[in-house]
Amino acid sequence: MKNKILISMFSFFGLVAFAQNKGLTANSDSPHAKLKSLGLQEVVWTDGFWKEQFDVETQNTLPYMWELYHNDSVSHAYANFKIAAGLEKGKHAGPSFHDGDFYKIMEGMASAYAINKDPELDKQMDEAIAMFAQVQRKDGYINTPVLIEERWGTLGPEELQKQLGFEKYNMGHLMTAACVHYRATGKTNFLEVAEGVADFLYDFYKKASPELARNAICPSHYMGIVEMYRTVKDPRYLELANNLIDIRGTTDDGTDDNQDRIPFSEQTEAMGHAVRANYLYAGIADLYAETGEEKLMENLQSIWEDVAYRKMYITGGCGALYDGVSPDGTVYDPSIVQKIHQAYGRPFQLPNATAHTETCANIGNVLWNWRMLQLTGDAKYTDVMELAFYNSVLSGVSLEGTEFCYNNPLNVSKDLPFKQRWGHEREGYIAWSNCCAPNVTRTLAQVNNYAYNVSENGLYVNLYGSNHLKTETLSGEILEIEQTTNYPWDGKITLKIVKAPKKAFSIFTRIPGWSEGSSIKINNATLDHEIQSGSYAELNRKWKKGDVIELHIPMPVRLMQANPLVEETKSQVAVKRGPLVYCLETDDLSQKVNINQVVLDIDSNFKTKPMTIKNRAVLGITARGFIENQDWDKALYKPLNLSKKSIDITLIPYYSWGNRNVEEMTVWMPY
Ligand SMILES: [Zn+2]
Repeated sequence: MKNKILISMFSFFGLVAFAQNKGLTANSDSPHAKLKSLGLQEVVWTDGFWKEQFDVETQNTLPYMWELYHNDSVSHAYANFKIAAGLEKGKHAGPSFHDGDFYKIMEGMASAYAINKDPELDKQMDEAIAMFAQVQRKDGYINTPVLIEERWGTLGPEELQKQLGFEKYNMGHLMTAACVHYRATGKTNFLEVAEGVADFLYDFYKKASPELARNAICPSHYMGIVEMYRTVKDPRYLELANNLIDIRGTTDDGTDDNQDRIPFSEQTEAMGHAVRANYLYAGIADLYAETGEEKLMENLQSIWEDVAYRKMYITGGCGALYDGVSPDGTVYDPSIVQKIHQAYGRPFQLPNATAHTETCANIGNVLWNWRMLQLTGDAKYTDVMELAFYNSVLSGVSLEGTEFCYNNPLNVSKDLPFKQRWGHEREGYIAWSNCCAPNVTRTLAQVNNYAYNVSENGLYVNLYGSNHLKTETLSGEILEIEQTTNYPWDGKITLKIVKAPKKAFSIFTRIPGWSEGSSIKINNATLDHEIQSGSYAELNRKWKKGDVIELHIPMPVRLMQANPLVEETKSQVAVKRGPLVYCLETDDLSQKVNINQVVLDIDSNFKTKPMTIKNRAVLGITARGFIENQDWDKALYKPLNLSKKSIDITLIPYYSWGNRNVEEMTVWMPY
């Protein structure tokens, strides 16, 4: 009841509340967030790479997903709500995380609505929200597998009993989606449902046993609950988030796969299921933004170093293993050895063909690094965020926006004589593992919100892409900038000031960690001080209308090596240009050979080449290679036989693989 009053107060003071509740992480009042989010509608892509992606999102992906999730014979997600509401008789069908995935689509729609104000989206969302309200139990509980059983079934209530149930994942995504919807539309209908959920969870955890209380897989609800706290300012939600983190690792039956064998305060390395891990780390970063508890930050930083320096793919992908064991390297004791799945492996264990790298884990990497950036202002987090966005997140969706990857391997070979649990072909609906499709759907509707931040010191420019920015500084003055660039194909970026604060003000432009020799001009005068890669260059002055900042980031083709401890990439190179990782696909070989037979000639004259794949323009890179002319047949080993037979090859951006003929692909190549 108290919260209903709070919401009405917010509605009454509508504009004020709306202004304070901005962005994907509404951290304007978070005491330990150095950088603050901009409003969802404050950055609009105007041209180029991200505009094109946003158009694919709104014209193809969102309508496709909405249809798909209403198609009872394929996904059954909306049908589950109808059955739970009592409108139809039936059974729950589809994975138990189906509700959460539907909420993700809603979050994507709300994010798109913030930009395009499409009345059709608003109508669709209202219709779905009315359904959620109808499904929701009086005590705030909402989860269709259980509610359908309660209404129609014979099993009786089983709420929150299943350790591996996705109940809180579903509720977590509901809360996040509702906060985004509120910020995008100003309407409180979804937020009221979310308040019921947050209140339910608060009451539930008051009386739950530690065993029940720690039940949390793919814990999206830590982020969701902190976001609810930020939106309605109910201190009980912060108390709940704190308790949920504290309770982890306090029971005897925790697992490394679920990151709760030991308390978070004892965790210094990334372990277990990579989606759960990254969601947990992102949720803890949210909690830290509110509480500033040092130990949380200390461990987050230690885990981050473990991931970024030892366990992450060159694409920003996370989670090397389909299956493994944990803890590793301990005294042998079968009673404590546990199975882990879809998980982080050992340091430097990064297989390519069998890489799991689930799209959701890579999105989790973005969510986590975005929050770390906001806590610290450190550009090393932006580097990882950008890397994942352009490579292992974008690879999760086809160029046309309607087919998806669950896994994002770095090598596909037809000769591999075993079948992996999930294939390497993009699919419109990945039965039982369709979590990634709605996740990439919502994420790609939101890239604009990651592009900038504001702080007490000024504006942070995180991501480049042509856009129009109109926001307010923290002191309430209007700031308007027009960004023009052909990034990531080209490293020239122009920021034109349209409206600036009266006093001197800093613009922090990001100089990517991968770059070398960048230069900055202001109104045509080149800055003479050193520009440091992997940092934000602070440009402080009294800006006026018409001022132009010109940033030039050279983008040569780069050959990349992995640390020699990564066994799978020994004596191999990968090609990178700017933030993009490249790969070689069968379609781009001048002769029909197996992809693993191709050896890269590193003395090639690497040249960029404009190409079109599925009506999308990409910049390929032409090079030469040699063909290993060995016929391996049944052999496992053979004497070395160096080949000089050459082949012309064209590399394409990794994110665009798998959009043509389904053949072979590789990121790493022997040289
Ligand atoms: Zn997924």
